[in-house]
Amino acid sequence: MNIEILGPRGSGKTILGKSISSELQLKYISLGEISRAEIRNDTQLGREMSYFIDNKILYPKGFLKELIRRNISDAIESGGFVLDGYPRQRSEAIELKTIMEELNTQLDIVIDLDTPPDIVKQRAEKRLICTSCDYQGVDLGTNTSHDCPNCKSVLSKREDDRPEEIERMYNLYVAERDAILDILRPITVYDVLKLDGTRSPGYLVSIAIFHLNNFINSRPNS
Ligand SMILES: [Zn+2]
Repeated sequence: MNIEILGPRGSGKTILGKSISSELQLKYISLGEISRAEIRNDTQLGREMSYFIDNKILYPKGFLKELIRRNISDAIESGGFVLDGYPRQRSEAIELKTIMEELNTQLDIVIDLDTPPDIVKQRAEKRLICTSCDYQGVDLGTNTSHDCPNCKSVLSKREDDRPEEIERMYNLYVAERDAILDILRPITVYDVLKLDGTRSPGYLVSIAIFHLNNFINSRPNS
């Protein structure tokens, strides 16, 4: 089963995506995580990514195609994926469509995590991340030191979790969302499942799993 999760940064895509992938035993592919791994490992691609990120430029057309294709291809071998953080613009949606066609597969469902800008900003202000292992947590406002529960590194705020940057990213996302959905619909078996991103992560996970199980059970040969 192949699942795409769309939503602005701060919509709760990561927690939803990770929960669905572990529940349904699908590979979780996060563009953020695979990008940060390239940068951390100082690969050629990672260095190019840093350039675009540092200069706040969207990736050029085709830039991520091979990286995404490789990850999707591996995931399909093992039963499917949950894709998070890509595509973020229409040219990437076209890229994804091409990749899926080349691999002779489809998306089963697209989850559209609809979240208003004020909620996205509130969440980003509280977000802490581990730069060693990609753990994401919430700043509870205490003054104690924040250590990563996975690897004990010190958690920090993401450089781009500033209100003006969040707003810029949100507006970019909103400007592309409908075009992305229009491109993905024809390669999606089930449909677009719109979820209310203001709801709690626990609720979102259970409602998404409910719909996904319905879908699985409605398929022939299931
Ligand atoms: Zn860590």
